[in-house]
Amino acid sequence: MNQNNENFNESINPDFKAKKSLMRSVDEYVEGIVSGNRTILSQAITLIESSREDHKELSREILENCLDRTGNSVRIGITGVPGVGKSTFIDALGIDRIVKGDKIAVLTIDPSSSLSKGSILGDKTRMEALSVHPDAFIRPSPASGTLGGVARKTREALLLCEAAGFNIILIETVGVGQSETAVHSMVDFFLVLMLTGAGDELQGIKRGIMEMADMIAINKADGANLDSAKRAVQQIQNALALFSDRPSGWKPPVVMCSAMEGSGIIELWEKIENYVHQSRKSGYFVQKRKVQSIDWMVETIEQQLKEMFYKHPDVKRHLMDFENKVNEGTISSFKAASELIKLFESKKS
Ligand code: GDP
Repeated sequence: MNQNNENFNESINPDFKAKKSLMRSVDEYVEGIVSGNRTILSQAITLIESSREDHKELSREILENCLDRTGNSVRIGITGVPGVGKSTFIDALGIDRIVKGDKIAVLTIDPSSSLSKGSILGDKTRMEALSVHPDAFIRPSPASGTLGGVARKTREALLLCEAAGFNIILIETVGVGQSETAVHSMVDFFLVLMLTGAGDELQGIKRGIMEMADMIAINKADGANLDSAKRAVQQIQNALALFSDRPSGWKPPVVMCSAMEGSGIIELWEKIENYVHQSRKSGYFVQKRKVQSIDWMVETIEQQLKEMFYKHPDVKRHLMDFENKVNEGTISSFKAASELIKLFESKKS
């Protein structure tokens, strides 16, 4: 196609260029990704997020071809309420690590962007230093989908980032719904950022978070906050002592930091390195990833089966009828479900 035609197509459809540029060959994508080309990495992630069948197919092939280059990063989940300082913290930690020679990718899981049509994490300019650094890659949460869908896409994006040579992957979430659990299921280390408050520090912790945390960091431990931060550390340590020992043998530390001033960040990272070292040595690191992979396989099967079911022509045709019958009380919901599943199965064999 000549230049004039391309310009013409773009002038009538501004998306033309974007769509066209997504359609490289699998080899072009894979070569681009493994050579660390961030533009191509970004385009491949866009394919992962796309709902178009041809994009899905292409992204599956790209992923498949990148798999033997994945797994070589430390995957860290970071959560905390809005305003706790996640982006300031990630910016500070990220730049610290880049100076030491690491390459950082930051992905986010923010189901609020599809639930409330407004993203909690994406609305402002975040991570100012990191976002312009050539050794960093920042990708906001997919803009739509269920938490399960968003989590799957993020996990696939994580693998592509690893193939692109990023050796520290930070996955950030704001803790809406079950998003912490989703992040926890794909990382090696889970960091919870907290604020110190008026003596009620523990009230803000969602159930289950303490069990998931591999470290709790009280951020904004600076200025007038310092004393109450120290008290919060004590309180949280006491609370953690009530939990039974972890299978990894790791005792989650409670630390203080100031992302704004940059204090405590180096010490915090050393603790993460200790964890990685310890758990690699004991075999727990690898074991945990294996368990996660199996969980993801099961989850992927469940999601795909569900998708196949609702796309099945007979199911589509009769679903509404059965809903009406259940609504009228002429058939039980169990019977309706098993009839629909029969329809789904009959065409398979
Ligand atoms: P996020 O919503 O969790 O990503 O929080 P941000 O990183 O956007 O921070 C929210 C506000 O807290 C911003 O105004 C930051 O400047 C401020 N902030 C972040 N970290 C610190 C810190 O360590 N100390 C103090 N005093 N303020 C901080």
